[in-house]
Amino acid sequence: MAIVGAGVTGCSCALTLADAGLRVRVHEAREVAGGASGRNGGFALRGAATPYDVARAELGERAASLWRLTEGALERLAGLAGDAFRRTGSLRLAADREEAESLRAEYEALRDDGFEVDWRPELNGRLAGRFHGAIFHPPDGSIQPARWVRRLAVQAAEAGAEIREHDPVTALEELDADQVVLATDGYTHGLLEMLDRAVKPARGQVVVTEPLGEEYFACPHYSRHRYDYWQQTPDLRLVLGGFRDTAPEEESTAEEATTPGIQARLESFARELVGRAPKITHRWSGIFGVTEDRLPLAGLMPGYDGLWVACGYSGHGNVLGLACGDLVASAILARPAPELHLFDPERRL
Ligand SMILES: Cc1cc2nc3c(=O)[nH]c(=O)nc-3n(C[C@H](O)[C@H](O)[C@H](O)COP(=O)(O)OP(=O)(O)OC[C@H]3O[C@@H](n4cnc5c(N)ncnc54)[C@H](O)[C@@H]3O)c2cc1C
Repeated sequence: MAIVGAGVTGCSCALTLADAGLRVRVHEAREVAGGASGRNGGFALRGAATPYDVARAELGERAASLWRLTEGALERLAGLAGDAFRRTGSLRLAADREEAESLRAEYEALRDDGFEVDWRPELNGRLAGRFHGAIFHPPDGSIQPARWVRRLAVQAAEAGAEIREHDPVTALEELDADQVVLATDGYTHGLLEMLDRAVKPARGQVVVTEPLGEEYFACPHYSRHRYDYWQQTPDLRLVLGGFRDTAPEEESTAEEATTPGIQARLESFARELVGRAPKITHRWSGIFGVTEDRLPLAGLMPGYDGLWVACGYSGHGNVLGLACGDLVASAILARPAPELHLFDPERRL
């Protein structure tokens, strides 16, 4: 068994396979969590990139299965991550009246289908007067991304998986394995042309401030149709990302670089959020993979024997990646879960 990519997906897949006694080798071009899994905003959210009410319109009853799957994955993450996970809930904020209406529709759909969810019409503290209501999602949480995924990799290695860092795969033919899993998300490029066409790279940029000395934001916050997101770390730094929609062409790239335009917007937003200009101590960017319907591709590659894929979370892969890595591993172990059909690559390839 060979897995390409040691982010959350590859490590999750490796853990399930190694736990079942299979010989697994993970090839990682850089280090464990060197891709998006170690560069993201640390939001551990249920669901997918699409709001629940929209997913329900598109997928029917399968939307509820998808959300339940990710709630289960969040539970699993909480058990595996130790103190790299905090169950804080998350706050999805409306930046204007129009977004408040969309959020209200999403809230009602979740509530009607029996999901735990709160509506917050009034916001206080640094949010007062700026946002127009919010959904609070109690099951969600916050992760320290690289720490969590390294911990997952250690568990996979302890179960018997071999993880080879600094080992880029340049062609599938070089892998001496009867089953191969591509877990490369936004870094998918050059191994399979049909996958390159279906999963497009998108860049996200992040800034981190000095510790702020005070807790303004007790959980992950996100607004403007999820484009902007921020939270505070346990040492009270502000981690803030977003604004990729302000330069959509420039940010549709696989180049890991920060740009003056987006960085300036992030700095200015950090100033607005905390009411002064905090010192920026870290900046970075990362790449995630986007599919046309914003659902991942997970399962057997059509037309290929023993070639599997799990990628394309469209910016929402911290929990879905854990779930999809495990779903693909379970299918390889001949115990496929019904939820795998939600992500069938055939629909896009
Ligand atoms: C800035 C940013 C913020 C984000 N914020 C959030 C968030 O708050 N919440 C959320 O749920 N999601 C978020 N995401 C998305 C999330 O990080 C990803 O969906 C998730 O980490 C994908 O995990 P993965 O293991 O599938 O891929 P990755 O973690 O990207 O891992 C893929 C790995 O494959 C390796 N690789 C690629 N090609 C090869 C090759 N040929 N040979 C060997 N190795 C190879 C890469 O080096 C990489 O390490 C964010 C993404 C970014 C970039």
